[in-house]
Amino acid sequence: MARAQIVILGGGTGGTMTANRLRRRFDADEAEIHVVDLDNRHVYQPGLLFVPFGLAQVEEIVRPRGRQLRDGVLFHENEVEEVWIERDELLLDDGTVLPYDVLVVATGVRLQPEETEGLTGPGWNERVFTFYSPGGADALRGALERFDGGRLVVNLVDMPIKCPVAPLEFAFLADWHLRERGIRNRSEVVYSTPLDGAFTKPIASEHLAGLLNEKDVELVTEFNAGEVDGVGGKLSSYDGRELDFDLLVTVPLHGGAAYVERSPGLGDALGFVPTNKQTLQTPAKPNVFALGDATDLPTSKAGSVTHFEAEVLAENVARFLADKELDASYDGHANCLIETGFHKALLIDFNYETEPLPGHFGPLPLLRESRLNHLGKLMFQWVYWHALLPGREIPGLGPAMPTARKKHAPAHAS
Ligand SMILES: Cc1cc2nc3c(=O)[nH]c(=O)nc-3n(C[C@H](O)[C@H](O)[C@H](O)COP(=O)(O)OP(=O)(O)OC[C@H]3O[C@@H](n4cnc5c(N)ncnc54)[C@H](O)[C@@H]3O)c2cc1C
Repeated sequence: MARAQIVILGGGTGGTMTANRLRRRFDADEAEIHVVDLDNRHVYQPGLLFVPFGLAQVEEIVRPRGRQLRDGVLFHENEVEEVWIERDELLLDDGTVLPYDVLVVATGVRLQPEETEGLTGPGWNERVFTFYSPGGADALRGALERFDGGRLVVNLVDMPIKCPVAPLEFAFLADWHLRERGIRNRSEVVYSTPLDGAFTKPIASEHLAGLLNEKDVELVTEFNAGEVDGVGGKLSSYDGRELDFDLLVTVPLHGGAAYVERSPGLGDALGFVPTNKQTLQTPAKPNVFALGDATDLPTSKAGSVTHFEAEVLAENVARFLADKELDASYDGHANCLIETGFHKALLIDFNYETEPLPGHFGPLPLLRESRLNHLGKLMFQWVYWHALLPGREIPGLGPAMPTARKKHAPAHAS
């Protein structure tokens, strides 16, 4: 085989794992591996949830991207301007044209708060915040410290979003934080969502709605946020409903990276990349693969999903280059540890076909709050930097969803 040129767009969770897995797999004379990212700050994004509550500092969850890549991976700190699928080439912001034999798209999502009227107007980062970016999470920490009671509204503008459970976790932790500070009795916490329940999957949704209720968090469903008045403290929906707030914590609209829209044949109308559910090859061209938040796959946009996909994708890049049949084994496996406050967390595990069910995942209980799950969530940052990103195998944590030790869904909820 002639030396292959593999170009990976995005040096976040998926791009880094893929590059390191491929570097382990191919000798330097077999493949040249490039990673392109617009900056050199790799954020451990699950840590953003803890920043507003003073439980983590931004600098503790950020590391240089280049240092997460194995020796021999070439890192370009550049923005991708456009991909020319027809020519197997792409353009970087400094004018460099990079040719490739295989392209991997791992550029995640773009937050688009400016798409919601008024959201980034007066009051933005003063009374209206998002914890989905390091700067936003840090600014929200100051606002929560100053919050002395009132109405805190958590709003998710529209799906899809990355880590669909993160806003729920924020509501649970806000309840805990306000109780710890002794101001819960003069505070209201509201969770508003465009979904018809607390979550997308019926059994988990029922559990999570029950938890919100236990914690006295008001659940407002089918609320499609249309406009924000950050000065007057009003969030309005398209159907004319209004939610008053003293502090608004929003998860803004998500779209794909802007270059995806500029690149003919690569993405859909929202900038996500149509991707084969099982093989992670794209219909754009056989030598183009995608993973993580950038895809249009009908599973959660989550780091766990990206990790499971990276295993199948790296295998398939190797098979593609060797002219072999692709591995069609990715089943949509996702798992998420959901912080619920008071040093507890709940675990859900599911795939394209099977919704989150009770039972056990290894030693961890499913769909039940436990301290062990919380410890698992805290430990995960170490696992992320030292095992997942380097592309090491983790026994018991792989692309195929385990079915043993799971209880079947009750008939009414399936
Ligand atoms: C608050 C929060 C909490 C979360 N909690 C969890 C959790 O508990 N568990 C879990 O599994 N997941 C969680 N996630 C989700 C998880 O972080 C993402 O799903 C995961 O990082 C996706 O990986 P990715 O490689 O697709 O995208 P990313 O890791 O976001 O990487 C995309 C990269 O592409 C780069 N890029 C974008 N556009 C360009 C361009 N034009 N040119 C060059 N580079 C570009 C970006 O700079 C970025 O580095 C959370 C996310 C957030 C925001």
